[in-house]
Amino acid sequence: MRGVNSTLDPRRTVAELQELRRLTSDEQGAQRVAFTPMWVKTREWLRAKLAALPLETHVDAAGNLWSTLKGRSEKSLLIGGHMDSVPNGGWLDGCLNVLAGLEVLRRIDAQYDHQPPMTVRLVDWADEEGARFGRSLFGSSACSGNLDLAEARKLVDRDGVRLADALAGVGVAFENVKDSRRELANAAAYLELHIEQGPVLLDLGLPLGVVLGTFGVERHAITFHGQAAHSGSTPMNRRRDAFLAAARMSPEIYEIARRHGGVGTIGSCTTKPGIVTSVVEDCRITLDQRHLDAAALATSLAEARAASGRFASEGGVDVAWERLWNIEPVLFDPRLLQFCEESILETCGKVHRLPSGPLHDAAEVARAGVPTVMMFVQSLHGISHNRIEDTSEEHLELCVRAFDRLAEKTLQAFA
Ligand SMILES: [Zn+2]
Repeated sequence: MRGVNSTLDPRRTVAELQELRRLTSDEQGAQRVAFTPMWVKTREWLRAKLAALPLETHVDAAGNLWSTLKGRSEKSLLIGGHMDSVPNGGWLDGCLNVLAGLEVLRRIDAQYDHQPPMTVRLVDWADEEGARFGRSLFGSSACSGNLDLAEARKLVDRDGVRLADALAGVGVAFENVKDSRRELANAAAYLELHIEQGPVLLDLGLPLGVVLGTFGVERHAITFHGQAAHSGSTPMNRRRDAFLAAARMSPEIYEIARRHGGVGTIGSCTTKPGIVTSVVEDCRITLDQRHLDAAALATSLAEARAASGRFASEGGVDVAWERLWNIEPVLFDPRLLQFCEESILETCGKVHRLPSGPLHDAAEVARAGVPTVMMFVQSLHGISHNRIEDTSEEHLELCVRAFDRLAEKTLQAFA
């Protein structure tokens, strides 16, 4: 590849991330919640940086900010991230992707004298986190076409503000958000860099990883129904204890994940009547199972269902399931996975392939049919959505270099 890294300055990315942190964080962490004044200020700051390049910049129908460096071909290489954060969030989640993408744009612009072989576009997705309205991936799902408008129309924040009104406040008309889809018209490939948000790369001692795809998710509520009875007068062998049956699900979920891979979590448990002097009549638990492989996910779910029926009948209680939400696994593009792996190997000599547990905007773009890949950089504590989120400066610089290589390989191959 000619002249790669000639003008790339990963240290500038680190400095800009630090600048952004000073501007948009307090002692509790990052405060760039989507559609708030701080988020607007964040975008103004980003726009000032973008203005130094010969880009066309606009906000689309869903509030996503697009910056386009026109190339010799209309076909576009997309690079994305999100400037919004959760309240009290980390300094890297989302904005690392955007600022690394900005540095890659600078390098491409300089190297190709303002006219790369194909068009390159940087997107800052609106409200990836869903922190305020409880709906993640808002901007990217509007763009991919997967946003359920009827569902989104009902969303309100804690203060009773409707999503539609919050959007109007930043100049976005709710009923038109899916017009964002037109932005993908010439999309040839989509690349996203992200902090891992988990401890896998940390535990392996590796700076960078290739992301295979995002987990499919099955989310259910399981309610066991028994009989309330006095805790003093009811002999142990006469009880129909809903909690006993529900509790047996916990080790079972670990066993299922051990057998088939993936992860499983019982994240909540509520009991009725929920008093110290009564056997539990109703016990409702929630189950969240995730896997990269659709068949393995289906098997894991089927086994959990079968186990719940077994525990119910053994305990003389009933069980009912209610699906809360589900999404299919999203697998990234094999050719881009290869480019990503090569880029990492050329940059630091070691690589690991891993799935992503959390969802990302990249999953939405992939679901829209655009070849997609993500790269992860190590998270120092394996923790995200927390002010202690961190990555070493050395690894931040490495990820910008590797991500730039990935962009260049993609540019050459897809032009
Ligand atoms: Zn993120």
